[in-house]
This record gives sequence, C-alpha cells and structure tokens, in this order.
Amino acid sequence: MTIQLFNTLKRVKEDFVPIDERRVRMYVCGPTVYDYAHIGNARPVVVFDVLYRLLRETYGEDHVIYARNITDVDDKIINRAMESGESISDITKRTEQAFLDDMSALGAMHPDVQPRATEHIAGMITMIGKLVSAGHAYEAEGHVLFSVESYREYGGLSGRNRDEMVAGARVEVAPYKRDPADFVLWKPSEDDQPGWESPWGRGRPGWHIECSAMSEQHLGPTFDIHGGGQDLIFPHHENEIAQSTCAHGGSKYVNYWMHNGYLMAEGEKMSKSLGNFYTVHDLLDEFPGEAIRLTLLKTHYRQPLDFRKDGIREAKKELDEFYLALRNADVKAEIPDQVSAPVLEALADDINTPKAISHLFELKTKLNAATDGREKSQLKGELMLSGDILGVLGQDADAWLRGSIKGDAEGLSDGDIDALIEQRNQARAGKDFATSDRIRDELAAQGVILEDGAGTTTWRRQ
Ligand SMILES: [Zn+2]
Repeated sequence: MTIQLFNTLKRVKEDFVPIDERRVRMYVCGPTVYDYAHIGNARPVVVFDVLYRLLRETYGEDHVIYARNITDVDDKIINRAMESGESISDITKRTEQAFLDDMSALGAMHPDVQPRATEHIAGMITMIGKLVSAGHAYEAEGHVLFSVESYREYGGLSGRNRDEMVAGARVEVAPYKRDPADFVLWKPSEDDQPGWESPWGRGRPGWHIECSAMSEQHLGPTFDIHGGGQDLIFPHHENEIAQSTCAHGGSKYVNYWMHNGYLMAEGEKMSKSLGNFYTVHDLLDEFPGEAIRLTLLKTHYRQPLDFRKDGIREAKKELDEFYLALRNADVKAEIPDQVSAPVLEALADDINTPKAISHLFELKTKLNAATDGREKSQLKGELMLSGDILGVLGQDADAWLRGSIKGDAEGLSDGDIDALIEQRNQARAGKDFATSDRIRDELAAQGVILEDGAGTTTWRRQ
C-alpha cells in the first residue's frame, strides 16, 4: 500500500517514499513549556500521532523514529519566570510534565525521542559556527544573525516573496541587522537570564536553530517528514530550512513538509477574553480524553477546525455507542493480522481520518447486527484493531461505560449504584415490581442506565 501525503513544499499530494524503509524519520515541533497546552496545540500532536501509528503499521514498529522536541529555553519562559517569581527550571519541569500527561490522556503515544533544547546547546553552537564560517551568518552586537540574502531559495516553503516577509509582523526590525529579514541564531544573555558560553559570548539560542540542531542530532541532516501547525510555516519552518540546508552544504533538509490547519473554538479565534480559550488540562476535567481526541480527528487535518464543546459531547455519545457494541458482543475478540483495508486506505490517502472513522461506524453497525458467534468475534476484533490505529476504542468497554462521564463526582459512586441494583434485584425476586421500577427510575434520573441481561444487570452512565 502506498501512502500519499500532501507536501506543503510542492503543494500537492504525492506518494510517500522514505529515504530508508528500515528507518523512517519524522520530526514534529513540540511545545515551548511555559503554560498549559491549549486545544490548538493538541491538534498537531493528535494528527501526527495517527501518522506515526500508520507509519509503524506500514513499515514496522522498529523502523520508525519519531522525534518531538521540548523547547525549554525561550523568552516566553524567561518572561513568565519574571512575572510569576517561579524559577525557570520549576516552570519548565512542571509544564513539560503537564504537557506529557495531557497528551497521554488524549491517547497520543510517546515519540521515540523527546529532545530538550537545553540539552542540545553544543550542537546548536556547532551549527551556528558552520553557518558563520560558510558566510551564511554574521555576528553583530553579541548576536549572530542568519543572512537571508545568502540563501537564494529562502521563501520556497511559504511561497512569500522578500517584501511580504519583511512586512510580516513577526520579522523583528533591529539596528544591528544588515537586512530586516535576517533572523537571530544566537543572542546575548544578561547575568540573570539563562546563558551558555559560546564563541560570541555568553548567550542563548534563537528558537529556529533549536529544531535544526535537534533534528540533525536525532534524525540526521536529511530526513523524511517534518510536521507542525500551519502557523509555523513562516517564519519558523522557512528558517529551519535555510539554517539546515546551508549548514549541510546545500543538501536537502526534509522531503515532506506537513501542516495541520487552524483551529477555532466555538466559531471564534481562541482568546482568553472571549472565554473560548480551552486548555487541554481544563477540558480533561470535563470530558474524557478519548472524546476530545475523536472530536479532533473527525475533521481532516488540513481543514480548519471549529472546535466546540457540543462536538465533544457528540463524540462522547458516539464512543458510548462503540463501547456498547463491543460490550454487547459477549464473545472474545478475534484480532486480525491487519487493520481493516478501508481504514488503512483512508489513512493512506493523506490521513483521511473522517473517512476512516466512518468505516468504524460501519463495522459497529455490522457488529450490532451479527448473530453468529464467530462473525461477532471477528467483527469485534476488526473494530478494535481499526480503532487502535486511530488511537480510540482501546479501553475496557465496561469501565468506559461506567465511568466515562467526568465531573459528576457529587453523583452516585459505583458502589452506590451496585448497592441499588442489588436492592432492585431483591425486589424483583420478591415480585415487588413497584420498588424495582422506582429504583430503576431513580437511577435513570441520575443518568445511570440499567440493562437487564440473562440473570445479570449491567449499567452505564449516560
Ligand atoms: Zn520547530
């Protein structure tokens, strides 16, 4: 099966051909750790997690290397430490852990490598040194700047011409720059700022060089896939290409550039003043991570996504139906060797998750209709394995159905519910149907649904 991916560099969908099938390499820009990740930060994590799973399925688990960095030196972190009084290392450690916990709760696998910027400063200094000696960078007032003029292909990824780049709000104009489009590779640090000794004095790296140096160290000078949000195309990824290509004597940096679309919340750009700034951390207090994940995957990754809480509620209900189907098929699942072909084909078509999910629904319908034990067990296994490549349906169905609503800690505990069911069973045994119906209604009023099977009663929260 051939995977096709939309390559931002060429603006077309093309066949994915890895440099080395036994070592398929992907890098995705990770978080700057100074605050909780918001749902927009989670979108690339979940999208590229599906691609990672697809690559592992296609080339074998041991033949894919996925690197996602942690940016733990950045002016945003320094500013946050000054505002809050918390030390930089406390902020970065606490935020990195929160990020990893939140992304795990969204069902994202750990990348194979999670390099921290502060542990790769030597590589950054070496790369900057190469750029200076090759005439692609220059020192000015304690800064080292990349000379955009020295790299003729600059702008190739974003398709911007020079004037548009200079006019771009994010290009910082500074007196020491030879050209306003030049960008910082290294900058001086004050005594109270984090800094490392370098040939240009004590200082710290610019953000862009971090990814170039870390990807070089872990994936080599040329690798297969580089991903991130669309907002990183310019200037971050444009600058990464310039740095890495020039530091490696003109050899190609990345073959496939992939970018996920923008995310809005409740129809608007996320902002704290509008009340639609959703951190993953807060959403997880209200909803199961798997429902948030499914909500993200129901839109194709390149499309803009309007993320709504109603959408999570709908995804939660859909997952309830899936888990009900899995629980009701009371046979042992027979897991097939391969993910269901229509699911794989959909994902191989530029990660078409909405299409893959629609096939999961078809499998669920078939499973619900199946009567033959063998067929049920095969369909159950097929649904579970196909869910797995999307990172869903991996939980114990009973546990999901009993506990999937978060935030109702003040309601009935599992033990309370079991006790009420026991009372109801006794009432039924004594033919006291008035009591048995009352208990059923009381539970229903609390959102607990009972299902009477042969000799047993199971329950789930609505
Ligand atoms: Zn990056």
